Amino acid sequence: MPRDPVCGMRVDEDTPYNLEYDDETYYFCSASCAQEFQENSEDYVSPLQESLGE
Ligand SMILES: [Zn+2]
Repeated sequence: MPRDPVCGMRVDEDTPYNLEYDDETYYFCSASCAQEFQENSEDYVSPLQESLGE
């Protein structure tokens, strides 16, 4: 079962609240979590690329 990356809740894959980002599909418990993810995507995806600098 996928996990909402914003609040950490487990969500059903059938949820209408899902977004594709960087070739991954993310699922959300609510429209507000999906919106939060859209606005701050970098905070919620893997931090691996964060230290590459600018
Ligand atoms: Zn949520």
